[in-house]
Amino acid sequence: MNASPGLRVLTQTEHSIRDHAVHPDAWKVLRRLHQAGHTAYLVGGTVRDLYLGRVPKDFDVATTAKPNEIKRLFRNAFMIGRRFRLAHIKFYDSVIEVATFRQETDRFEEPSPETGEARAIRIYGTPEEDARRRDFTINGLFYDPFRAHVIDYVGGLVDMEKRIVRTIAPPDASYEEDPARMIRAVRAAARLGFAIEADTGEAIIRHREAILRCPKARLLEELMILLKYNSAERSLRLLWNFGLMEYILPMHHAYLLRRNNLPLHPPNQDVLFDLVSMLDLESAAPDPSVIFSLILFPFVLERLDLAPKLFWSHKSTSAVITAVESIFDEFSKSVDISKRFRGRALEILTAQPRLVLRGSNIRPDKLAQKPYFLDSFMFFKIASRAVDFDTQSDIAFWEKHKPKSQPPRHAAGGDPSAAVRPEPHGAPPPGRRRHRRRRHRGRPPPGPAQNQTATQ
Ligand code: ATP
Ligand code: MG
Repeated sequence: MNASPGLRVLTQTEHSIRDHAVHPDAWKVLRRLHQAGHTAYLVGGTVRDLYLGRVPKDFDVATTAKPNEIKRLFRNAFMIGRRFRLAHIKFYDSVIEVATFRQETDRFEEPSPETGEARAIRIYGTPEEDARRRDFTINGLFYDPFRAHVIDYVGGLVDMEKRIVRTIAPPDASYEEDPARMIRAVRAAARLGFAIEADTGEAIIRHREAILRCPKARLLEELMILLKYNSAERSLRLLWNFGLMEYILPMHHAYLLRRNNLPLHPPNQDVLFDLVSMLDLESAAPDPSVIFSLILFPFVLERLDLAPKLFWSHKSTSAVITAVESIFDEFSKSVDISKRFRGRALEILTAQPRLVLRGSNIRPDKLAQKPYFLDSFMFFKIASRAVDFDTQSDIAFWEKHKPKSQPPRHAAGGDPSAAVRPEPHGAPPPGRRRHRRRRHRGRPPPGPAQNQTATQ
């Protein structure tokens, strides 16, 4: 049921969000808006995470101030988005996203026959309208920091208590409007350890194929978010359970089917799940090339017909290259992986035998200076632990000899542009409703800056 549950407000004594949990830069933005007479709330996943006592990935603000007013108030505001204008307020090590409360995600009238222009119908709205156009009830909460009130128009608090992910709109309509919400449901459930509410989940199964309506770049972006933030294993299992894996990672879907006699159940134990569960233990956000190498490693083992532990003693680099190239050829039919990350994954996988020191005559200082060393080493640690290959002494050795930061790629004669580490997707597809943003988190995790879809 998605009937209107009415407004519910929790006062300061009824929740445990404290001022110090809000990033100082977010406070600066909230205060300035407030002092100028505007309503300014923290919104969406920020409130969800604060309420649960988690550190939000980003601090998003919604306000009654219109984009031109926001621009006037902040010298450090960068306006993004062509139709719905959002502001990125840039600070030294964070970016706070500020949006005007709006009514619709994005809806336009038919282009006028005279001017050919599509005029936005009333896009700005009240806080309640803004909450209702969001994806899930747990993502529809607001926080008024000046009164210390949690404001719930959509039944998010009840669902937080029940630990469920439920669409705000009826689920069929919600996914028809934006099929990527099916992956977002998996992302929220996996990250928080919540269940997907029955109607919300059954509708995913019904609409799963519609996920292919999303541009490939957006799918890749969503996939990377699923894999990157310490809940990759749960995410893969949920993608499988809700039938999404067949469309998002068809190779993996086929792999799990072949590894299992019961077509509807993925094997509980598989090297694929072992690899991603080790990935989930990493505190530093890995480069996408490490993630691709890990999720494609089971295929390399299959092609080379190797027991996992024997991979590191495999002698034929050319056989590894051939295997990896053909796996990437197949993988890139469904996942829009760039040549750059594909090249890096190849470097990571072919470097592996050189990380095992026993009886080898490798010059450690030379390997450690390679631009791909740190990524290769991260793969080495994660994969060898996942397959129970004892590399403790090698890991201890490389920990001592590793460079503090990755040497730039051009220093080793590689592609100079490859020294920059963008996320693995190209420009946003034209006319997309949400806009790509590069923003460092309020409290940035170690590792490369992350791209996200501007969504709030
Ligand atoms: P995370 O912790 O992964 O950042 P999040 O819920 O904060 O999760 P964001 O992508 O940062 O996700 O989006 C911020 C908020 O914007 C969401 O919480 C939700 O309220 C809203 N939102 C994002 N994407 C959508 C969407 N596709 N449809 C409707 N609302 C959305
Ligand atoms: Mg967020």
